[in-house]
Amino acid sequence: MLKRLALILLLATMAAPAAAQEKLKVVATFSILADFVRNVGGDRVAVDALVGPNGDAHVYQPSPGDAKTLADAKLVFANGLGFEGWINRLVKASGTKAPSIVAAKGVKPRKAEDDHGHGEADPHAWQSVANARIYVANIRDALSLADPAGKDSYAANAAAYLGRLDALETDVKAAIEKIPPDRRRIITTHDAFGYFAAAYGVAFIAPQGVSTEAEVSAKDVAKIITQIRKQKIPAVFLENVTDERLLKRIGAESGARIGGTLYSDALTDEKGTAPTYLDMMRHNVKQLAAALAGV
Ligand SMILES: [Zn+2]
Repeated sequence: MLKRLALILLLATMAAPAAAQEKLKVVATFSILADFVRNVGGDRVAVDALVGPNGDAHVYQPSPGDAKTLADAKLVFANGLGFEGWINRLVKASGTKAPSIVAAKGVKPRKAEDDHGHGEADPHAWQSVANARIYVANIRDALSLADPAGKDSYAANAAAYLGRLDALETDVKAAIEKIPPDRRRIITTHDAFGYFAAAYGVAFIAPQGVSTEAEVSAKDVAKIITQIRKQKIPAVFLENVTDERLLKRIGAESGARIGGTLYSDALTDEKGTAPTYLDMMRHNVKQLAAALAGV
């Protein structure tokens, strides 16, 4: 009898904390990274994104509210590779004790050369699904370290999500394969698709560098227009995080058609077409395939 009572009490205490369990507060610097963390963290984790949907992390100006969010967090995830130039100062100013995790750690960085031959790391590593797998593994390991009781849950969530990434990668490659090789060339505003280009064999040409901070000169624009005409580049694409006027002008002057909008550095909100990373990649590939398909 006593044994049974003890068992009931034990079961009750086991069940209670799980229901009332406080979620692990985690901050991710931007929407794409927040989506990865949500997929791995599941219901044990509450994720705040500093730069929200359609936001540009390159030129983000943190608010006092962001410092407060960081101060309350148990873990901070940043992309790294120079993407968030403002993060170290913000972490310091917030006084947070939370460890900062570089999600792109272990990615082989792509170097983007500017006109003066300076090598600058390209931060947009998530644009290749192979790199997204590295992000997911880093997130799983960091969450498990911060919340050891959730280790099995994080491992299971990560494994399930990695399976979805595998399926995504297969679909991306199959869609690009269908585009005639001589038409796999497009223009975007800023140089955000270098990893995508290297992984899947589509050439992206951008008047702006790897950061949206860079100024675009009239000379750069003229150069691109000449290139579009010479190489018969079929389409130019707008991006959700950049000013669309520049690309519309280039499209009009060169005769290349506007292929649509690509999502490079941020997801859309729930109502948009790319509220998750998987949606974003599928949307981008669909747009490319439609614009570049044979004439
Ligand atoms: Zn960017």
